[in-house]
Amino acid sequence: MTQFDFLAIGGGSGGIAAAVRAASYGARAAVIECGPLGGTCVNVGCVPKKVMWYAAAIAHGLEDATDYGFTVHREGFDWAALKASRDAYVARLNEIYRRRLETSGIELVRGQARFVGERTVEVDGQRYGAEHVVVAVGGAPTVPALPGAELGIDSDGFFALDHQPRRVAVVGAGYIAVELAGMFRALGSEVTMLVRRQSLLHGFDAMLGETLTEEMRGAGVDIRFGTAPTALERDTDGAIRVRAQGDPPATTFDTVLWATGRHPRTADLGLAAAGVATAPDGSIPTDPFQATSAPGVYAIGDVTGHDLLTPVAIAAGRRLADRLFAGMTDRRLEYDNIPTVVFSHPPVGTVGMTEDVARERHGDAVKVYRAKFTPMYHAFTRHRSQTAMKLVCVGPEERVVGCHVIGLGADEMLQGFAVAVKMGARKRDLDDTVAIHPTSAEELVTMR
Ligand code: FAD
Ligand code: NDP
Repeated sequence: MTQFDFLAIGGGSGGIAAAVRAASYGARAAVIECGPLGGTCVNVGCVPKKVMWYAAAIAHGLEDATDYGFTVHREGFDWAALKASRDAYVARLNEIYRRRLETSGIELVRGQARFVGERTVEVDGQRYGAEHVVVAVGGAPTVPALPGAELGIDSDGFFALDHQPRRVAVVGAGYIAVELAGMFRALGSEVTMLVRRQSLLHGFDAMLGETLTEEMRGAGVDIRFGTAPTALERDTDGAIRVRAQGDPPATTFDTVLWATGRHPRTADLGLAAAGVATAPDGSIPTDPFQATSAPGVYAIGDVTGHDLLTPVAIAAGRRLADRLFAGMTDRRLEYDNIPTVVFSHPPVGTVGMTEDVARERHGDAVKVYRAKFTPMYHAFTRHRSQTAMKLVCVGPEERVVGCHVIGLGADEMLQGFAVAVKMGARKRDLDDTVAIHPTSAEELVTMR
Protein backbone atom coordinates (compact mmCIF):
# COMPACT_ATOMS: atom_id res chain seq x y z
CA MET A 1 0.00 0.00 0.00
CA THR A 2 1.24 3.49 -0.81
CA GLN A 3 1.00 5.81 2.19
CA PHE A 4 0.63 9.62 2.13
CA ASP A 5 0.17 12.40 4.66
CA PHE A 6 -2.81 13.78 2.75
CA LEU A 7 -5.04 12.16 0.17
CA ALA A 8 -7.72 14.05 -1.77
CA ILE A 9 -10.39 11.93 -3.45
CA GLY A 10 -11.49 14.09 -6.36
CA GLY A 11 -9.39 16.45 -8.46
CA GLY A 12 -11.96 19.22 -8.70
CA SER A 13 -12.07 22.68 -7.15
CA GLY A 14 -11.89 21.49 -3.53
CA GLY A 15 -9.57 18.50 -3.81
CA ILE A 16 -6.89 20.28 -5.84
CA ALA A 17 -6.94 23.40 -3.66
CA ALA A 18 -6.63 21.35 -0.46
CA ALA A 19 -3.81 19.17 -1.82
CA VAL A 20 -1.81 22.10 -3.20
CA ARG A 21 -2.09 23.94 0.13
CA ALA A 22 -1.14 20.78 2.09
CA ALA A 23 1.88 20.20 -0.18
CA SER A 24 2.95 23.82 0.28
CA TYR A 25 3.47 22.98 3.97
CA GLY A 26 5.59 19.96 3.10
CA ALA A 27 2.90 17.28 3.35
CA ARG A 28 3.26 14.26 1.08
CA ALA A 29 0.03 14.64 -0.85
CA ALA A 30 -1.89 12.81 -3.58
CA VAL A 31 -5.00 13.50 -5.64
CA ILE A 32 -7.18 10.72 -7.08
CA GLU A 33 -9.28 11.72 -10.10
CA CYS A 34 -11.44 9.52 -12.32
CA GLY A 35 -12.29 12.20 -14.89
CA PRO A 36 -10.71 15.33 -16.35
CA LEU A 37 -8.79 17.47 -13.86
CA GLY A 38 -10.55 20.56 -12.55
CA GLY A 39 -13.85 18.81 -11.84
CA THR A 40 -17.28 20.26 -12.49
CA CYS A 41 -16.27 23.92 -12.48
CA VAL A 42 -13.61 23.65 -15.16
CA ASN A 43 -15.19 21.02 -17.38
CA VAL A 44 -18.98 21.26 -17.14
CA GLY A 45 -19.65 24.20 -14.85
CA CYS A 46 -18.47 27.74 -14.16
CA VAL A 47 -15.84 27.97 -16.90
CA PRO A 48 -17.65 26.77 -20.06
CA LYS A 49 -20.82 28.36 -18.66
CA LYS A 50 -19.15 31.78 -18.37
CA VAL A 51 -17.86 31.47 -21.94
CA MET A 52 -21.45 30.94 -23.11
CA TRP A 53 -22.59 33.83 -20.91
CA TYR A 54 -20.08 36.11 -22.61
CA ALA A 55 -21.33 34.94 -26.01
CA ALA A 56 -24.89 35.75 -24.94
CA ALA A 57 -23.78 39.16 -23.65
CA ILE A 58 -22.18 39.88 -27.05
CA ALA A 59 -25.47 38.91 -28.73
CA HIS A 60 -27.26 41.47 -26.55
CA GLY A 61 -24.54 44.00 -27.32
CA LEU A 62 -25.04 43.48 -31.05
CA GLU A 63 -28.75 44.20 -30.61
CA ASP A 64 -27.95 47.46 -28.84
CA ALA A 65 -25.14 48.45 -31.20
CA THR A 66 -27.40 50.12 -33.77
CA ASP A 67 -28.84 52.35 -31.02
CA TYR A 68 -25.26 53.49 -30.42
CA GLY A 69 -24.81 54.42 -34.06
CA PHE A 70 -23.21 51.28 -35.46
CA THR A 71 -24.35 49.68 -38.68
CA VAL A 72 -24.48 46.03 -37.73
CA HIS A 73 -25.97 43.11 -39.59
CA ARG A 74 -26.06 40.01 -37.46
CA GLU A 75 -25.54 37.11 -39.79
CA GLY A 76 -25.92 34.07 -37.66
CA PHE A 77 -24.02 32.44 -34.88
CA ASP A 78 -21.72 29.43 -35.21
CA TRP A 79 -22.40 27.33 -32.12
CA ALA A 80 -20.00 24.59 -33.23
CA ALA A 81 -17.12 27.05 -33.71
CA LEU A 82 -17.65 28.53 -30.25
CA LYS A 83 -17.83 25.03 -28.75
CA ALA A 84 -14.50 24.12 -30.38
CA SER A 85 -12.79 27.23 -28.95
CA ARG A 86 -14.39 26.63 -25.56
CA ASP A 87 -13.31 22.96 -25.50
CA ALA A 88 -9.75 23.96 -26.43
CA TYR A 89 -9.71 26.50 -23.58
CA VAL A 90 -10.95 23.86 -21.12
CA ALA A 91 -8.28 21.43 -22.37
CA ARG A 92 -5.63 24.10 -21.69
CA LEU A 93 -6.97 24.47 -18.16
CA ASN A 94 -6.87 20.67 -17.65
CA GLU A 95 -3.19 20.76 -18.56
CA ILE A 96 -2.52 23.78 -16.30
CA TYR A 97 -4.02 21.83 -13.39
CA ARG A 98 -1.91 18.77 -14.23
CA ARG A 99 1.23 20.88 -14.23
CA ARG A 100 0.24 22.59 -10.99
CA LEU A 101 0.03 19.20 -9.28
CA GLU A 102 3.35 18.17 -10.80
CA THR A 103 5.19 21.32 -9.74
CA SER A 104 3.68 21.07 -6.26
CA GLY A 105 5.10 17.54 -5.94
CA ILE A 106 1.61 16.02 -5.65
CA GLU A 107 1.08 12.50 -6.93
CA LEU A 108 -1.82 12.23 -9.37
CA VAL A 109 -3.60 8.87 -9.36
CA ARG A 110 -5.94 8.39 -12.31
CA GLY A 111 -8.97 6.22 -11.62
CA GLN A 112 -12.04 5.66 -9.48
CA ALA A 113 -11.40 5.49 -5.73
CA ARG A 114 -13.40 3.34 -3.34
CA PHE A 115 -12.89 3.04 0.42
CA VAL A 116 -11.86 -0.43 1.54
CA GLY A 117 -11.11 0.41 5.18
CA GLU A 118 -10.28 3.24 7.57
CA ARG A 119 -8.45 6.00 5.68
CA THR A 120 -7.68 3.51 2.91
CA VAL A 121 -8.95 3.47 -0.67
CA GLU A 122 -8.47 1.22 -3.66
CA VAL A 123 -7.99 2.37 -7.27
CA ASP A 124 -7.71 -0.30 -9.97
CA GLY A 125 -6.54 -2.88 -7.44
CA GLN A 126 -3.90 -0.59 -5.88
CA ARG A 127 -4.30 0.56 -2.26
CA TYR A 128 -3.58 4.06 -1.02
CA GLY A 129 -3.72 5.23 2.58
CA ALA A 130 -3.15 8.53 4.36
CA GLU A 131 -3.15 10.04 7.80
CA HIS A 132 -5.73 12.52 6.53
CA VAL A 133 -8.18 11.76 3.72
CA VAL A 134 -10.45 14.44 2.26
CA VAL A 135 -13.52 13.40 0.28
CA ALA A 136 -14.05 15.97 -2.48
CA VAL A 137 -15.99 13.95 -5.05
CA GLY A 138 -18.53 16.67 -5.88
CA GLY A 139 -21.90 15.91 -7.39
CA ALA A 140 -23.79 15.12 -10.58
CA PRO A 141 -27.01 16.43 -12.18
CA THR A 142 -30.26 14.95 -10.90
CA VAL A 143 -32.85 13.94 -13.50
CA PRO A 144 -36.39 13.20 -12.28
CA ALA A 145 -37.46 9.54 -12.57
CA LEU A 146 -40.19 10.10 -15.18
CA PRO A 147 -41.17 8.08 -18.26
CA GLY A 148 -38.96 9.19 -21.15
CA ALA A 149 -36.71 11.37 -18.95
CA GLU A 150 -33.68 10.03 -20.87
CA LEU A 151 -34.86 11.92 -23.96
CA GLY A 152 -33.82 15.12 -22.20
CA ILE A 153 -30.31 16.36 -21.46
CA ASP A 154 -28.80 17.76 -18.27
CA SER A 155 -26.22 20.54 -17.86
CA ASP A 156 -23.41 18.12 -18.84
CA GLY A 157 -25.40 17.48 -22.04
CA PHE A 158 -25.71 21.22 -22.62
CA PHE A 159 -21.93 21.50 -22.85
CA ALA A 160 -21.81 18.50 -25.19
CA LEU A 161 -24.28 20.06 -27.68
CA ASP A 162 -22.51 20.56 -31.00
CA HIS A 163 -25.35 22.49 -32.59
CA GLN A 164 -27.87 25.00 -31.37
CA PRO A 165 -31.36 23.61 -30.81
CA ARG A 166 -34.18 25.78 -32.19
CA ARG A 167 -36.92 25.03 -29.65
CA VAL A 168 -35.79 24.35 -26.09
CA ALA A 169 -37.65 23.53 -22.90
CA VAL A 170 -35.79 24.15 -19.65
CA VAL A 171 -37.20 22.43 -16.57
CA GLY A 172 -36.42 24.10 -13.24
CA ALA A 173 -36.06 27.61 -11.88
CA GLY A 174 -32.74 27.56 -10.01
CA TYR A 175 -29.27 28.75 -10.97
CA ILE A 176 -28.74 26.42 -13.92
CA ALA A 177 -32.24 26.84 -15.36
CA VAL A 178 -32.18 30.63 -15.50
CA GLU A 179 -28.56 30.77 -16.64
CA LEU A 180 -28.86 28.30 -19.52
CA ALA A 181 -32.33 29.51 -20.54
CA GLY A 182 -30.95 33.06 -20.78
CA MET A 183 -28.02 31.92 -22.93
CA PHE A 184 -30.13 29.84 -25.29
CA ARG A 185 -32.52 32.78 -25.75
CA ALA A 186 -29.82 35.41 -26.30
CA LEU A 187 -28.18 33.17 -28.90
CA GLY A 188 -31.46 32.79 -30.78
CA SER A 189 -33.30 29.68 -29.56
CA GLU A 190 -37.01 29.73 -28.70
CA VAL A 191 -37.06 28.99 -24.99
CA THR A 192 -39.82 27.76 -22.69
CA MET A 193 -39.23 27.40 -18.97
CA LEU A 194 -41.32 24.85 -17.10
CA VAL A 195 -41.39 25.88 -13.44
CA ARG A 196 -43.29 23.93 -10.80
CA ARG A 197 -43.56 26.87 -8.36
CA GLN A 198 -44.93 30.35 -9.04
CA SER A 199 -41.55 32.10 -9.10
CA LEU A 200 -37.94 31.87 -10.29
CA LEU A 201 -34.95 31.51 -7.96
CA HIS A 202 -36.77 30.20 -4.91
CA GLY A 203 -34.72 30.88 -1.76
CA PHE A 204 -33.29 34.14 -3.10
CA ASP A 205 -34.76 37.51 -2.14
CA ALA A 206 -38.20 37.63 -3.82
CA MET A 207 -37.35 40.91 -5.59
CA LEU A 208 -34.66 39.10 -7.59
CA GLY A 209 -36.95 36.38 -8.92
CA GLU A 210 -39.72 38.86 -9.71
CA THR A 211 -37.42 41.21 -11.61
CA LEU A 212 -35.73 38.35 -13.44
CA THR A 213 -39.14 37.03 -14.52
CA GLU A 214 -40.01 40.43 -16.05
CA GLU A 215 -36.61 40.65 -17.73
CA MET A 216 -36.63 37.13 -19.15
CA ARG A 217 -40.20 37.48 -20.38
CA GLY A 218 -39.20 40.82 -21.92
CA ALA A 219 -36.40 39.01 -23.75
CA GLY A 220 -38.91 36.52 -25.16
CA VAL A 221 -38.57 33.55 -22.80
CA ASP A 222 -41.90 31.79 -22.33
CA ILE A 223 -42.02 31.14 -18.57
CA ARG A 224 -44.78 28.78 -17.48
CA PHE A 225 -45.31 28.68 -13.73
CA GLY A 226 -47.12 25.86 -11.95
CA THR A 227 -46.00 23.37 -14.61
CA ALA A 228 -44.09 20.16 -13.95
CA PRO A 229 -43.39 17.55 -16.64
CA THR A 230 -44.93 14.13 -16.08
CA ALA A 231 -43.45 12.34 -19.14
CA LEU A 232 -41.36 12.89 -22.28
CA GLU A 233 -42.19 11.15 -25.57
CA ARG A 234 -40.50 11.08 -28.99
CA ASP A 235 -42.84 12.22 -31.79
CA THR A 236 -42.69 10.67 -35.26
CA ASP A 237 -40.98 13.82 -36.58
CA GLY A 238 -38.22 13.43 -33.97
CA ALA A 239 -39.40 16.24 -31.69
CA ILE A 240 -39.76 15.66 -27.96
CA ARG A 241 -43.27 15.99 -26.61
CA VAL A 242 -43.52 17.11 -23.00
CA ARG A 243 -46.50 15.88 -21.05
CA ALA A 244 -46.98 18.20 -18.12
CA GLN A 245 -49.35 19.02 -15.34
CA GLY A 246 -51.19 22.24 -16.04
CA ASP A 247 -49.81 22.51 -19.58
CA PRO A 248 -51.41 21.92 -23.00
CA PRO A 249 -50.36 18.48 -24.33
CA ALA A 250 -49.26 19.75 -27.76
CA THR A 251 -45.96 21.19 -26.57
CA THR A 252 -42.97 19.82 -28.51
CA PHE A 253 -39.31 20.75 -28.44
CA ASP A 254 -36.00 19.85 -30.11
CA THR A 255 -34.23 19.75 -26.75
CA VAL A 256 -35.47 19.37 -23.18
CA LEU A 257 -32.96 20.40 -20.51
CA TRP A 258 -33.29 19.11 -16.98
CA ALA A 259 -32.01 21.78 -14.59
CA THR A 260 -33.50 20.08 -11.58
CA GLY A 261 -30.72 20.08 -9.00
CA ARG A 262 -27.66 17.97 -8.24
CA HIS A 263 -26.82 15.06 -5.94
CA PRO A 264 -23.54 14.02 -4.24
CA ARG A 265 -21.45 11.34 -5.98
CA THR A 266 -21.18 9.03 -2.98
CA ALA A 267 -23.17 5.96 -4.08
CA ASP A 268 -20.10 3.91 -5.16
CA LEU A 269 -17.57 5.30 -2.73
CA GLY A 270 -17.70 2.53 -0.13
CA LEU A 271 -18.12 5.08 2.65
CA ALA A 272 -19.46 2.46 5.07
CA ALA A 273 -16.12 0.62 4.90
CA ALA A 274 -14.43 3.77 6.16
CA GLY A 275 -17.05 4.42 8.84
CA VAL A 276 -18.19 7.65 7.18
CA ALA A 277 -21.86 8.41 7.86
CA THR A 278 -24.03 9.93 5.13
CA ALA A 279 -27.30 11.86 5.16
CA PRO A 280 -30.38 10.32 3.45
CA ASP A 281 -29.62 12.33 0.27
CA GLY A 282 -26.11 10.80 0.10
CA SER A 283 -24.31 13.97 1.21
CA ILE A 284 -21.63 13.78 3.91
CA PRO A 285 -22.37 15.81 7.04
CA THR A 286 -19.35 17.40 8.71
CA ASP A 287 -18.59 19.38 11.84
CA PRO A 288 -17.53 23.03 11.44
CA PHE A 289 -13.96 21.83 10.79
CA GLN A 290 -15.02 19.62 7.83
CA ALA A 291 -14.53 16.43 9.89
CA THR A 292 -16.84 13.50 9.09
CA SER A 293 -17.95 10.81 11.54
CA ALA A 294 -14.71 8.86 10.82
CA PRO A 295 -11.48 10.10 12.45
CA GLY A 296 -9.00 11.42 9.87
CA VAL A 297 -11.63 11.62 7.10
CA TYR A 298 -12.96 15.02 6.02
CA ALA A 299 -15.43 16.22 3.39
CA ILE A 300 -15.43 19.50 1.47
CA GLY A 301 -17.31 21.06 -1.43
CA ASP A 302 -20.45 19.85 -3.17
CA VAL A 303 -20.35 16.43 -1.52
CA THR A 304 -21.34 18.10 1.76
CA GLY A 305 -24.67 19.02 0.13
CA HIS A 306 -24.75 22.74 0.88
CA ASP A 307 -23.35 25.95 -0.63
CA LEU A 308 -22.52 24.27 -3.95
CA LEU A 309 -20.06 26.90 -5.16
CA THR A 310 -16.48 26.64 -6.38
CA PRO A 311 -14.97 29.27 -4.05
CA VAL A 312 -16.66 27.54 -1.10
CA ALA A 313 -15.04 24.18 -1.97
CA ILE A 314 -11.66 25.90 -2.44
CA ALA A 315 -11.88 27.94 0.76
CA ALA A 316 -12.93 24.91 2.84
CA GLY A 317 -10.09 22.82 1.37
CA ARG A 318 -7.40 25.45 1.93
CA ARG A 319 -8.49 26.12 5.50
CA LEU A 320 -8.53 22.40 6.23
CA ALA A 321 -4.93 22.09 5.03
CA ASP A 322 -3.95 25.18 7.05
CA ARG A 323 -5.39 23.52 10.15
CA LEU A 324 -3.90 20.07 9.56
CA PHE A 325 -0.42 21.03 8.39
CA ALA A 326 0.30 24.60 9.51
CA GLY A 327 -0.83 24.46 13.11
CA MET A 328 -3.72 26.92 12.60
CA THR A 329 -5.91 25.04 15.05
CA ASP A 330 -9.03 27.24 14.76
CA ARG A 331 -8.89 27.71 11.02
CA ARG A 332 -12.17 26.87 9.31
CA LEU A 333 -14.60 28.27 6.77
CA GLU A 334 -17.46 30.36 8.12
CA TYR A 335 -20.49 29.54 6.03
CA ASP A 336 -22.42 32.76 6.67
CA ASN A 337 -22.57 35.71 4.26
CA ILE A 338 -21.32 33.77 1.25
CA PRO A 339 -21.78 36.01 -1.78
CA THR A 340 -23.02 34.48 -5.01
CA VAL A 341 -23.80 35.52 -8.56
CA VAL A 342 -26.37 33.99 -10.89
CA PHE A 343 -25.18 34.52 -14.46
CA SER A 344 -28.62 35.21 -15.81
CA HIS A 345 -29.39 38.02 -18.26
CA PRO A 346 -29.24 40.41 -16.51
CA PRO A 347 -27.08 38.92 -13.76
CA VAL A 348 -27.98 38.64 -10.09
CA GLY A 349 -25.56 39.34 -7.25
CA THR A 350 -26.53 38.64 -3.67
CA VAL A 351 -25.09 38.31 -0.19
CA GLY A 352 -26.63 37.83 3.23
CA MET A 353 -30.21 37.56 4.43
CA THR A 354 -33.25 37.92 2.23
CA GLU A 355 -35.86 40.40 3.42
CA ASP A 356 -38.22 37.54 4.37
CA VAL A 357 -35.60 35.76 6.49
CA ALA A 358 -34.58 39.02 8.16
CA ARG A 359 -38.22 39.81 9.03
CA GLU A 360 -38.72 36.30 10.44
CA ARG A 361 -35.67 36.69 12.65
CA HIS A 362 -35.78 40.38 13.54
CA GLY A 363 -39.42 41.46 13.01
CA ASP A 364 -39.96 45.22 13.12
CA ALA A 365 -36.23 45.89 13.62
CA VAL A 366 -35.78 45.40 9.86
CA LYS A 367 -35.52 48.38 7.54
CA VAL A 368 -35.32 47.91 3.80
CA TYR A 369 -33.96 50.30 1.17
CA ARG A 370 -34.88 49.78 -2.47
CA ALA A 371 -33.96 51.21 -5.85
CA LYS A 372 -35.21 50.36 -9.33
CA PHE A 373 -34.02 52.21 -12.41
CA THR A 374 -32.95 52.00 -16.02
CA PRO A 375 -29.15 51.89 -16.10
CA MET A 376 -27.57 54.60 -18.25
CA TYR A 377 -26.41 52.04 -20.82
CA HIS A 378 -30.07 51.37 -21.63
CA ALA A 379 -31.18 55.03 -21.49
CA PHE A 380 -31.69 55.11 -25.25
CA THR A 381 -31.55 51.49 -26.40
CA ARG A 382 -34.72 49.95 -27.77
CA HIS A 383 -34.15 46.87 -25.65
CA ARG A 384 -34.47 48.12 -22.06
CA SER A 385 -33.28 46.18 -19.06
CA GLN A 386 -33.97 47.30 -15.50
CA THR A 387 -31.68 47.27 -12.49
CA ALA A 388 -33.15 46.59 -9.04
CA MET A 389 -31.41 46.75 -5.68
CA LYS A 390 -32.27 46.09 -2.09
CA LEU A 391 -30.40 46.64 1.16
CA VAL A 392 -31.75 44.78 4.19
CA CYS A 393 -30.77 46.49 7.44
CA VAL A 394 -31.36 45.51 11.06
CA GLY A 395 -31.57 47.36 14.39
CA PRO A 396 -31.04 50.96 15.43
CA GLU A 397 -27.54 50.87 13.94
CA GLU A 398 -29.01 49.68 10.63
CA ARG A 399 -26.46 46.94 10.20
CA VAL A 400 -26.53 45.79 6.57
CA VAL A 401 -27.40 42.08 6.71
CA GLY A 402 -28.40 41.63 3.07
CA CYS A 403 -27.49 43.18 -0.26
CA HIS A 404 -29.36 42.04 -3.37
CA VAL A 405 -28.83 43.35 -6.88
CA ILE A 406 -30.10 42.40 -10.32
CA GLY A 407 -28.97 44.29 -13.38
CA LEU A 408 -26.13 45.06 -15.72
CA GLY A 409 -22.83 44.76 -13.82
CA ALA A 410 -24.31 43.14 -10.70
CA ASP A 411 -21.89 40.24 -11.17
CA GLU A 412 -18.83 42.46 -10.74
CA MET A 413 -20.48 44.78 -8.19
CA LEU A 414 -21.13 42.36 -5.39
CA GLN A 415 -17.66 41.24 -4.33
CA GLY A 416 -16.77 44.55 -2.68
CA PHE A 417 -20.16 44.93 -1.01
CA ALA A 418 -19.81 41.36 0.29
CA VAL A 419 -16.63 42.49 2.10
CA ALA A 420 -18.61 45.34 3.67
CA VAL A 421 -21.42 43.02 4.81
CA LYS A 422 -18.91 40.49 6.15
CA MET A 423 -17.21 43.27 8.13
CA GLY A 424 -20.54 44.29 9.68
CA ALA A 425 -21.05 47.55 7.77
CA ARG A 426 -23.90 49.83 8.82
CA LYS A 427 -26.08 51.71 6.37
CA ARG A 428 -24.25 54.84 7.55
CA ASP A 429 -20.92 53.40 6.43
CA LEU A 430 -22.33 53.02 2.94
CA ASP A 431 -23.76 56.57 3.09
CA ASP A 432 -20.35 57.89 4.21
CA THR A 433 -18.65 56.32 1.19
CA VAL A 434 -18.36 58.69 -1.75
CA ALA A 435 -20.12 57.41 -4.84
CA ILE A 436 -18.38 56.49 -8.10
CA HIS A 437 -20.16 58.23 -10.95
CA PRO A 438 -21.65 57.41 -13.38
CA THR A 439 -22.20 53.79 -12.39
CA SER A 440 -25.09 51.63 -11.26
CA ALA A 441 -23.19 50.65 -8.10
CA GLU A 442 -23.33 54.24 -6.81
CA GLU A 443 -27.03 53.72 -6.04
CA LEU A 444 -25.98 51.36 -3.24
CA VAL A 445 -24.24 54.19 -1.38
CA THR A 446 -26.88 56.87 -2.06
CA MET A 447 -30.12 55.07 -1.13
CA ARG A 448 -32.61 56.95 1.06
P1 FAD B 1 -16.10 18.89 -8.31
O1 FAD B 1 -15.53 20.12 -8.90
O2 FAD B 1 -17.31 18.32 -8.93
O3 FAD B 1 -14.92 17.81 -8.29
C1 FAD B 1 -15.14 16.50 -7.91
C2 FAD B 1 -14.19 15.60 -8.68
O4 FAD B 1 -14.18 14.31 -8.08
C3 FAD B 1 -14.62 15.38 -10.13
O5 FAD B 1 -13.57 15.76 -10.99
C4 FAD B 1 -14.94 13.91 -10.22
O6 FAD B 1 -14.59 13.35 -11.47
C5 FAD B 1 -14.09 13.35 -9.11
N1 FAD B 1 -14.58 12.08 -8.55
C6 FAD B 1 -15.85 11.78 -8.20
N2 FAD B 1 -15.90 10.54 -7.66
C7 FAD B 1 -14.61 10.07 -7.67
C8 FAD B 1 -14.02 8.86 -7.24
N3 FAD B 1 -14.74 7.91 -6.67
N4 FAD B 1 -12.70 8.69 -7.43
C9 FAD B 1 -11.95 9.66 -8.02
N5 FAD B 1 -12.46 10.84 -8.41
C10 FAD B 1 -13.78 11.05 -8.24
N6 FAD B 1 -19.99 27.57 -8.96
C11 FAD B 1 -19.59 28.85 -8.86
O7 FAD B 1 -19.03 29.25 -7.84
N7 FAD B 1 -19.78 29.73 -9.89
C12 FAD B 1 -20.38 29.36 -11.04
O8 FAD B 1 -20.54 30.17 -11.95
C13 FAD B 1 -20.83 28.02 -11.16
N8 FAD B 1 -21.42 27.60 -12.30
C14 FAD B 1 -21.81 26.30 -12.40
C15 FAD B 1 -22.44 25.90 -13.57
C16 FAD B 1 -22.87 24.60 -13.71
C17 FAD B 1 -23.57 24.18 -14.99
C18 FAD B 1 -22.65 23.66 -12.66
C19 FAD B 1 -23.10 22.24 -12.81
C20 FAD B 1 -22.03 24.05 -11.49
C21 FAD B 1 -21.62 25.37 -11.35
N9 FAD B 1 -21.00 25.82 -10.19
C22 FAD B 1 -20.60 27.13 -10.07
C23 FAD B 1 -20.77 24.92 -9.05
C24 FAD B 1 -19.32 24.42 -9.01
O9 FAD B 1 -18.98 23.84 -10.25
C25 FAD B 1 -19.16 23.40 -7.89
O10 FAD B 1 -19.64 23.95 -6.68
C26 FAD B 1 -17.70 22.99 -7.70
O11 FAD B 1 -17.18 22.44 -8.87
C27 FAD B 1 -17.60 21.99 -6.55
O12 FAD B 1 -16.27 21.57 -6.38
P2 FAD B 1 -15.95 20.16 -5.71
O13 FAD B 1 -14.47 20.10 -5.58
O14 FAD B 1 -16.78 19.95 -4.51
O15 FAD B 1 -16.46 19.09 -6.77
P1 NDP C 1 -31.07 24.39 -7.87
O1 NDP C 1 -31.25 23.66 -6.59
O2 NDP C 1 -30.56 25.77 -7.86
O3 NDP C 1 -32.46 24.41 -8.66
C1 NDP C 1 -33.15 23.24 -8.96
C2 NDP C 1 -34.47 23.63 -9.59
O4 NDP C 1 -35.12 22.47 -10.11
C3 NDP C 1 -35.44 24.28 -8.64
O5 NDP C 1 -36.13 25.29 -9.32
C4 NDP C 1 -36.37 23.12 -8.29
O6 NDP C 1 -37.65 23.54 -7.94
C5 NDP C 1 -36.44 22.41 -9.62
N1 NDP C 1 -36.81 21.00 -9.53
C6 NDP C 1 -36.23 20.04 -8.79
N2 NDP C 1 -36.83 18.84 -9.04
C7 NDP C 1 -37.80 19.08 -9.96
C8 NDP C 1 -38.75 18.26 -10.60
N3 NDP C 1 -38.80 16.96 -10.34
N4 NDP C 1 -39.60 18.82 -11.47
C9 NDP C 1 -39.55 20.14 -11.73
N5 NDP C 1 -38.65 20.99 -11.16
C10 NDP C 1 -37.80 20.45 -10.27
O7 NDP C 1 -30.16 23.42 -8.75
P2 NDP C 1 -29.40 23.64 -10.12
O8 NDP C 1 -29.44 22.33 -10.78
O9 NDP C 1 -29.90 24.83 -10.84
O10 NDP C 1 -27.93 23.98 -9.63
C11 NDP C 1 -27.26 23.15 -8.68
C12 NDP C 1 -26.31 23.96 -7.85
O11 NDP C 1 -25.14 24.28 -8.61
C13 NDP C 1 -26.85 25.32 -7.41
O12 NDP C 1 -27.58 25.19 -6.22
C14 NDP C 1 -25.61 26.15 -7.24
O13 NDP C 1 -25.15 26.05 -5.91
C15 NDP C 1 -24.63 25.53 -8.21
N6 NDP C 1 -24.51 26.42 -9.35
C16 NDP C 1 -23.97 27.65 -9.16
C17 NDP C 1 -23.91 28.56 -10.17
C18 NDP C 1 -23.33 29.91 -9.92
O14 NDP C 1 -22.64 30.09 -8.94
N7 NDP C 1 -23.60 30.89 -10.77
C19 NDP C 1 -24.40 28.24 -11.51
C20 NDP C 1 -24.95 26.91 -11.61
C21 NDP C 1 -25.00 26.05 -10.57
P3 NDP C 1 -38.04 23.92 -6.41
O15 NDP C 1 -37.52 25.29 -6.16
O16 NDP C 1 -39.51 23.84 -6.45
O17 NDP C 1 -37.39 22.87 -5.54
